[in-house]
Amino acid sequence: MSAVAETQWVYDFTEGAREMRELLGGKGANVAEMTRVLGAERVPAGFTVTTEACVAYMAAERHVPDGLEAQIAQALRRLEDQAGKRLGDPDDPLLVSVRSGARESMPGMLDTVLNLGLNDRSVQGLAARTGNERFAWDSYRRFVQMFAGVVRGVAGERLEREIEQAKQRRGVRLDTELDAEDLRRLVESFKELVRQDSDEPFPQEPRAQLDAAVRAVFDSWLGERAVSYRRINRIPDAWGTAVNVQQMVFGNRGDTSGSGVAFSRNEITGEPRPSGDFLPNAQGEDVVSGVRNTRDIAELAELMPEAHAELMEILRTLESHYKDMQDVEFTVDDGRLYMLQTRSAKRPAQAAVRFAVDAVHEGLLSESEAVMTIDAAALEALLHPTFDPSVDYDVLAHGVGASPGAAMGEIVFSAADAVEAAEQGRGVILVRPFTEADDVAGFHAARGILTSEGGKASHAALVARGMGRPCVVGASELDVDLGAREIRVANTVLHEGERIGIDGATGSITTDDVPLVSARMDERFEQVLTWADGLRRLAVRTNADTPDDARQAREFGAQGIGLCRTEHMFMATDRVPKMRAMILADSPQERRDALAELAVHQQSDFERIFEVMQGLPVTIRLLDPPLHEFLPSRAEVQIELERVRGGAQPSLEGAMADSGGDHDSQEDVSGHLEHLLERVSALEEVNPMLGTRGCRLGLLHPEIYEMQIQAIARAARAVRERSGAGPALEVMIPLVNYERELELMRDLVVQTAAQEGLEEGDFTVGTMIELPRACLAADRIARHADFFSFGTNDLTQTALGFSRDDIEGKILDRYIDARILDRSPFETLDVPGVGQLLRMGAWLGRKGRPEIELGVCGEHGGDPDSITFFHASGIDYVSCSPYRVPVARVAAAQAAISAET
Ligand code: PEP
Ligand code: MG
Repeated sequence: MSAVAETQWVYDFTEGAREMRELLGGKGANVAEMTRVLGAERVPAGFTVTTEACVAYMAAERHVPDGLEAQIAQALRRLEDQAGKRLGDPDDPLLVSVRSGARESMPGMLDTVLNLGLNDRSVQGLAARTGNERFAWDSYRRFVQMFAGVVRGVAGERLEREIEQAKQRRGVRLDTELDAEDLRRLVESFKELVRQDSDEPFPQEPRAQLDAAVRAVFDSWLGERAVSYRRINRIPDAWGTAVNVQQMVFGNRGDTSGSGVAFSRNEITGEPRPSGDFLPNAQGEDVVSGVRNTRDIAELAELMPEAHAELMEILRTLESHYKDMQDVEFTVDDGRLYMLQTRSAKRPAQAAVRFAVDAVHEGLLSESEAVMTIDAAALEALLHPTFDPSVDYDVLAHGVGASPGAAMGEIVFSAADAVEAAEQGRGVILVRPFTEADDVAGFHAARGILTSEGGKASHAALVARGMGRPCVVGASELDVDLGAREIRVANTVLHEGERIGIDGATGSITTDDVPLVSARMDERFEQVLTWADGLRRLAVRTNADTPDDARQAREFGAQGIGLCRTEHMFMATDRVPKMRAMILADSPQERRDALAELAVHQQSDFERIFEVMQGLPVTIRLLDPPLHEFLPSRAEVQIELERVRGGAQPSLEGAMADSGGDHDSQEDVSGHLEHLLERVSALEEVNPMLGTRGCRLGLLHPEIYEMQIQAIARAARAVRERSGAGPALEVMIPLVNYERELELMRDLVVQTAAQEGLEEGDFTVGTMIELPRACLAADRIARHADFFSFGTNDLTQTALGFSRDDIEGKILDRYIDARILDRSPFETLDVPGVGQLLRMGAWLGRKGRPEIELGVCGEHGGDPDSITFFHASGIDYVSCSPYRVPVARVAAAQAAISAET
């Protein structure tokens, strides 16, 4: 005998528990738990073949593991003893259902076979025993039909066609109107289809039926439908599915029977009243498949009052046992109620919030338990208008949902057109292949942004999210032709001015006129957020660079600004020409003059932001992006120059702003364009993301940073003088690699501020940590830094060598298909790689300066999974776009609660 204990592949329902979800799948674990809670009389008996058996089956190229068949035989015997019936008994057969059940529910993706155990003889026994011939033949018809489809791969339409023909022959409309003889004939024709399609007859031997069904469920895990569902929902292929074999109870035994699904509370609104659907004289599949029109659960009270009352009581019991809203399947078999499955109800954010608050008030959950029932990421949906969920619409194309909320408007192709349209009161969607720095004014003006390129960390996505504008990026099916001012997609051509709608949560694009419904923070949502605030350790700040964003973020509970990207302030339409003049200046004096003009704008921007953020920290980052982002592209200037030389009027918007006005001669214009071309060419870089940007700009052109520091200092003083209090100022240096870079930049900040009358105690100086070396040398860098803010966008880009603007549109899907990644590392932090760098940076940073403040201001600062990691890594605060602030508050609380349990 082998000394190694045989693996247990099969568990009776009485052996399982909810904690065994990984092994028994969600359904198996919950049925076992429910058996314990409600008692064996309420839950039909059965057993679960484990997910491990499926994994072993897959690993052995679709061979069942040793020992499985014998263990199924033993479990079946126990089930038969308990039921007092035998599978395939010609007089009184036991029938079973065979259902899939993965760790995470995958609705409709995996296969199920019901009424297994019937054959040509036992169907007669069942008819005689129950005295109901129609019921027996209906059950057999269902079994052969499912077996044919699921196990032998007969096309569903062919089976349905047979049923249609039977109904036509009989002149009836409903399946339920077919009699025993019709059903018997259907069984024969289904068996014939099985024989034709698989070259094997329909198996009469029940154990052979069972083994084939178990294998078919395993196979369905590998089916195309299930694989693509797992890609979308990020479920690992390696998990496998469990298989649940359960004694059948019958909802199709006549008018005293039925099947249904129910929620312990309304699954859309969360209202504390059970909801659901049922069908009299039907099996569960009829309810979910939609072939017959279901009836509201309230009607069950009239038809089967006893079963209804019991169901209501059971829903209460299960909810308080699971401490969560439940979604159940039930069957009434000749008046007797059976529970087949229970699980936590999937629900939209609105219902999740309502349940959490009601459950605390009802004494069902504690505040922290209630906060844990919420899907934090889904909360953002509550803050943006959405397409009316009750309206169906045609999807024209799909992109990446980059900033949630829905928007409808006329198509425009340039920022200038968006601004002009907004001034005329027209709602527009800005459509571009991709966006750049000088499109930002258009973001403000547009209702939504749509690009055919880029991913979730592209310029369009970041800016749109920051402003709370709905945005879809990377819609690669669209051919956006800026020259022709049209969008081509499949066989459709859309022109400027035509209406288009985008859903920034799902990435859908439509030309249907879908109504929008608005949403706002209601009292319940506020309540949940207040509870979360009491439970979290991480502070939550916002990434904001306008007073409006700052105000919005404060309304959502931001505790300061963690990142003010000053470059966005130079991107407003009236600033770009001045910025260009500064960049194009030929002499230091010219540059200083241009900077002096910009300083006025910077100061007033800062003043307005400081006023909103009184008393709270405001982290201002000095200029980061490469200067050529503020200039037109070389190709654009070249074309313009050729046009002007050919006698055309100049049209390149803004490029001529420093040229002295409209009355220049043709030669002047050409001269300016030549100069522009020279400068644009000089500034062009092969890889601008790794070129002259960040603190390198400050080192090469200190006058730019000096101007910014002066503006910050003057604004702080002005606000303090006006209102007695200013913000807690934090000046942040971007893209630092070497400690000496920061040392030099810190000196520049301190000296310039001193000239403006600001002492060192009036502000702090810190740095972004967004390069791998900075993480590894964080102790040295910390000597010059009062705070670190991890820029996880650039850190992801530089640690992984993935261009943040290209990877999501071009490579990510393939990487997900090949199972290299299961989601974008720009969305959820890559913990094993980037996360370890961040941990190292945090640890070394504290070693270098124990009191150093540690924040995260990359997009990951608003992502719940990443927040869990930041909490565990000893970070002090996260900073995210205004609309993500409530998400981050809840996620930070959840991180703290999970860390304790
Ligand atoms: C970052 O790199 O994470 C960051 C916040 O800065 P930006 O996205 O502006 O580069
Ligand atoms: Mg950065």
